[in-house]
Amino acid sequence: MSVKRFLENTWKCTVFTHWGMTETGYGGGVQCGAREGYHMRDLDLLLEVVDPETGEPVLDGELGELVLTTLRRTGMPLIRYRTGDLGRFIVSPCPCGTLKPRLAEVEGRLTDVISLSGGKRLSMHVLDELLLSSGIVRDFAASYDRGRNLLSVAVMAAGGEEEALEEAERSLNVYFEGAVLLEVSAREISPYIGSGKRKIDGIS
Ligand SMILES: [Zn+2]
Repeated sequence: MSVKRFLENTWKCTVFTHWGMTETGYGGGVQCGAREGYHMRDLDLLLEVVDPETGEPVLDGELGELVLTTLRRTGMPLIRYRTGDLGRFIVSPCPCGTLKPRLAEVEGRLTDVISLSGGKRLSMHVLDELLLSSGIVRDFAASYDRGRNLLSVAVMAAGGEEEALEEAERSLNVYFEGAVLLEVSAREISPYIGSGKRKIDGIS
């Protein structure tokens, strides 16, 4: 969401996102004009949400692992294929008038998420929301030390460095409430270094 807002502010445009993976033939679901969840390709794909521990379906609207069945594919069909993605359905009607449940924004891969005490989750998705939504932090890098339960975050300020450090520390503390030890520092982060998906070092 925060990355989306950043793109919209930078390019003065409306950004629509979609969910999909190689196994869905990429486009699994896409946002409508309301941009409140993904309308799925229901004729081709049956998506379920299950408890990753037990494999049992969760209650409507609860978070779990997305499980995929292809309905019309003759080559390489998938039956209750565990995607490894974490998501949930929105069961209330969409403002566009569609009544079918739609997929809420996917919260990342199961292996990229750490469950902490107090039901808190640590993932890149969570950190994006916490750190980038204010606009004071331009970018960040994060690493997690399991042994010490220490989250180290280096932030690059959009403007004043002190302000960015304060804001980062404040929002992380408000969310984690002591579920991890925190270390926040300032650093220049080049967008040209590194490749592939953004991730927390030390997780997965
Ligand atoms: Zn809609």
